[in-house]
Amino acid sequence: MNKPLLEFTNKGIYCAVAKVYLDPWKPVQNAIISHGHADHCRWGHKRYITHHRNVPIISHRLGDIQVTGKEWGETFSINNVKFSLHPAGHIIGSSQIRVEHKGEIWVFTGDYKTENDGISTPYESVKCHTFITECTFGLPAFSWTPQTEVLNNINNWWSENRAEGKTSVLFGYSLGKAQRLLKYLDTDIGKIYTHGAIEKMTEVLRPLVDFPETNLITRDTKKTDLLGNIVLAPPSAHGSPWIRKMVPYVTASASGWMAFRGARRRRAIDKGFVLSDHCDWQGLLASIEATGAEKVICTHGYTDIFSRYLREQGYDARTESTQYGEEENEVTVEKTTESIMSS
Ligand SMILES: [Zn+2]
Repeated sequence: MNKPLLEFTNKGIYCAVAKVYLDPWKPVQNAIISHGHADHCRWGHKRYITHHRNVPIISHRLGDIQVTGKEWGETFSINNVKFSLHPAGHIIGSSQIRVEHKGEIWVFTGDYKTENDGISTPYESVKCHTFITECTFGLPAFSWTPQTEVLNNINNWWSENRAEGKTSVLFGYSLGKAQRLLKYLDTDIGKIYTHGAIEKMTEVLRPLVDFPETNLITRDTKKTDLLGNIVLAPPSAHGSPWIRKMVPYVTASASGWMAFRGARRRRAIDKGFVLSDHCDWQGLLASIEATGAEKVICTHGYTDIFSRYLREQGYDARTESTQYGEEENEVTVEKTTESIMSS
């Protein structure tokens, strides 16, 4: 039996013919990277290939690395294997990785969402034989409200807090969610203040997207400066001494996990907005169908439940274990933030 075009090894997803890994989690010679989140883009590879919009992000995160940027749809061959990157719509610069050899086509999604967030290049369906998909929110209970409605609710919440003389503190991941929120915050309501981790990442992305003005919170920022305004902070800032400066404040989180009853209460957050950078259940199913793939491999999220459902629908579907998905785990984000704050 021939070896499959892509294999799941202890270092990551491997194309043996090209000697290239996709989003490897252990250091390798050649890595093609789907996007800049820490669980997909790790330190220590010899050479990185990624979309050029992701180059400034990973250079900011990883420092001095050898990285080549590619255009959407630009084909590059390694040992006769054709590779190309296609928009995944997850965060700025996020790609699906298409791999073709001897007429056989595989697509690896990394993380993706089908709704156009207005700052990432929108998701594009790519035809393939085998589709390697995430399924972070692969349960029927996950069904997203259109972002316009959610973002309106966020601005209304901010307005109400301002009328009550309170500071609004809104939590979102420093890469991706924070910029998506920032893009749509209504500066007619007040000023936007940022935590250092978000300010630094946004600064890196300003050449790519037109964002409103932000004000970094420093030692000199006074409580009275913040009153009535909004503060964008990573989830880990909640409960830290840093947040005390904002009293009196109201907290909210913007995350797909806010769809879970109890998630907001467990985190002791006043308000939850369901806003995700991943597909919901229908988004996953529609994407898979549009690829025309017969084989589906689920890498992270509700893999077992989701792949079982796909098999019931007639797909040749299975789960492979990977080390993706930790970006959604706030512990990882907390560690990252701690290192940024202490540096
Ligand atoms: Zn991600």
